Amino acid sequence: MATERTLSIIKPDATRRNLTGRINALFEEAGLRIVAQKRIRLSDLQAGAFYEVHKERPFYASLVSSMTAGPVVVQVLEGEGAILKNRSVMGATDPKKAEPNTVRAQFAESIEANSVHGSDSPENAAAEIAFFFAGTEILP
Ligand code: GDP
Ligand code: MG
Repeated sequence: MATERTLSIIKPDATRRNLTGRINALFEEAGLRIVAQKRIRLSDLQAGAFYEVHKERPFYASLVSSMTAGPVVVQVLEGEGAILKNRSVMGATDPKKAEPNTVRAQFAESIEANSVHGSDSPENAAAEIAFFFAGTEILP
């Protein structure tokens, strides 16, 4: 399998509870390398644009406000099959359905405040990485 990069976000519910290090440890233990990382506060405009694909969903406004409720940590994870690997470390969207020991099973507060975002395809990973990072900020 090829080396890939994926965009990860540690969401405000997790930064609020000081879980960044514990979540990063799960990524690193799975063989993912954090090759870029920054702590930022998303504006309504940024969060709305990032989740544009969900614009028609009933939870869109609530999702955008949850993503702007506090700081997030945006990061690029690199590794063999990083996109799928990160999705499996994250667990299912709904923490009640997430496999034990995944980030969401351990830490999510709800289906919305579910602690992490991860890209779901190579195309989305490339677009989402470019949304937050210049090439010079990524240091493998
Ligand atoms: P993900 O790829 O596993 O993050 O899930 P999706 O791409 O389907 O949804 C994006 C984000 O929207 C999720 O991570 C949740 O924060 C939120 N979300 C998804 N489904 C629901 C829902 O049914 N209700 C609410 N309130 N939020 C949801
Ligand atoms: Mg998604």
